[in-house]
Amino acid sequence: MNVTIVGTGYVGLGTGVMLAYLGHQVIGLDTDPTKIESLKRGEIPIYEPGLDQLLAEAQANLHWTTDYAHAIPNADVIFICVGTPPQSDGRPNLSYLEGAARSIAQNLNGKTQVIVNKSTVPIGSGDWVSRIIEEHAVDYHANRYFVVSNPEFLREGTALGDSLYPDRIVLGGIAAGLVRMRQLYAPLIHQSFKAPDYVPRPKEYTVPAVVETTLTSAEMIKYAANAFLALKISYANEIAGLCERVGANIDEVTAGIGFDQRIGHRFLAAGAGWGGSCFGKDTSALITTGGDYGYEMPILSAAIEVNQRQRSTVIDKLQKHLRLLKGKRVAVLGMAFKPNTDDLRDAPAHDFIARLNLLGATVVAHDPVAMERARKEWAHLRYQEAATAQDAINGADAVIIATEWTEYRRLNWNSKVRSMRNALVIDARNVISEPLDVPAVIEQIGKELPERTAADAV
Ligand code: NAD
Repeated sequence: MNVTIVGTGYVGLGTGVMLAYLGHQVIGLDTDPTKIESLKRGEIPIYEPGLDQLLAEAQANLHWTTDYAHAIPNADVIFICVGTPPQSDGRPNLSYLEGAARSIAQNLNGKTQVIVNKSTVPIGSGDWVSRIIEEHAVDYHANRYFVVSNPEFLREGTALGDSLYPDRIVLGGIAAGLVRMRQLYAPLIHQSFKAPDYVPRPKEYTVPAVVETTLTSAEMIKYAANAFLALKISYANEIAGLCERVGANIDEVTAGIGFDQRIGHRFLAAGAGWGGSCFGKDTSALITTGGDYGYEMPILSAAIEVNQRQRSTVIDKLQKHLRLLKGKRVAVLGMAFKPNTDDLRDAPAHDFIARLNLLGATVVAHDPVAMERARKEWAHLRYQEAATAQDAINGADAVIIATEWTEYRRLNWNSKVRSMRNALVIDARNVISEPLDVPAVIEQIGKELPERTAADAV
C-alpha cells in the first residue's frame, strides 16, 4: 500500500520505518525541513536502538518530504503522528493536529483514503478530524474518506520490538476503514512473521490481538492504558515510601506482589517516578476530560501527586545529609527520562537540576546520549557538562543517579565513591545492587543498603 506518515518524530519514524520494512511504500512528511534533510541523508534525528539498521534495510521503500501536495494524493493510508504536547491547563495542544488535518484535507484526491489518528488525541478528536476534512477537502466525498483511531503503544528505547511484536493493535472506526487497516497490518498479524534478529522477540510471543472498536473507545483505550501504567508506578512509589519508614524492602515487596498474575511484575519499579512525553500529559488530559463532564478522577489525581512528591523526595534525601547545598558540587547521572532514549520531555533530572540551581549547588551532569539535546532544550538550566560519568563524579559532594542507564549499573561504585569529595550517592533508580566495601552513604528508594563505616572497610 501507499502510506504517508505525517510527523516524523519518535512515533512517526518508528511507524514509518516498520511499515516500510513490512513492504509498504512509505512517504514520511514533516514540516521541519532540518529533520527531513537529515532523513534524506539516511541520518536519524533521534536516538532509538536498532532504528538505523531497520531504516537501512527498508531504505528502498522510504521517501521523505515536506510537501503535502506530493505526499497525500496517492496515499491509501495517511497516519497523523504529530505531537500533542501538554499545556498549562492539562489539555493537550491540538494545533499541530488541526494544522495537519487541514493540510491533508486540502490535498485529498477523491479516491478512497483512510486517515489514521496515531497521535494520542483527546476523546472526540476523531470526529473533529472528520469534520475538518469535510470542511476543507476541495472535493469532499463522504464515503471515500474514513477516519480511524489506531493509538500507538510503543515505548521509546524499545520502539522496534514494540512495533514489530505488539501485544495488540487497536483499531477504532467504521468497518470500511478498519478493513484497510487489517490489510495494512496483515504481515504482522501472521503466525510466521519474524522481525530481524536484532529486534528482540518477547518470550512466548504469538500474534498480536486485533481489537476493533468504535472511534471513541479506541481513543479511550490509549488514555486509560497510559493512566493505568502511571498509576501502577505511583502505587509502587507510595508503598516504597512506607517501606522506608517501617524498614521493609520495596524490591522484596514488589517481587512478592508481582507473582500474583492479576498484578504482574512490570511497572512496579520504585524510583524517581515516571516521566517522558506521555504519562503525565495523558493522565492530566484524562482528568481534564473528566472535568469537562463534571466527573472527578481522584485516583488519577493522586497518581500525579505521588509522582511529583517522588521527585522532591530525591532532593530531600540530599538535604538530609548535606544540609546546605549552596556551593556543593552535585553530579547528576542521567538526563533522559529513561534509558535507551535521548528524550528529555518531563524527565525527573530536569526537576532535580532546576531545584539544585535554586538551592545554589553546582551541578555537573552526564548522559550517554542526551547531552546534545539538553544543550538545546535545557538551555534555561545551569549545569556543567561532563564527558564521562567519572568526570561528573570526580570531586563531587554527592551523586544523584537519575536514569537507570546500564552504564551506571555497571560502574564500579567502590572505586567511584573514592573519587568523590564526600561519598554520598542518592540512587534514585535503585541501580546499586550490592553494599559497597568502602565507607559511603547510599540512599535508595524504598530500601536500604547496609551502611559501611570506616571500621568496616577492608
Ligand atoms: P514528536 O514531537 O517527537 O514528533 C512530532 C513531529 O510532528 C515533529 O517532527 C514535528 O515537526 C511534526 N509536525 C508538527 N506539526 C506538523 C504538521 N502540521 N505537519 C507535519 N508534521 C508536523 O512527537 P512523538 O513523541 O512522536 O509523539 C507523537 C504523538 O504520539 C503524540 O500525540 C504522543 O502523545 C503520541 N505517542 C508518543 C509516544 C512516545 O513514546 N513518544 C508513544 C505513544 C504515543
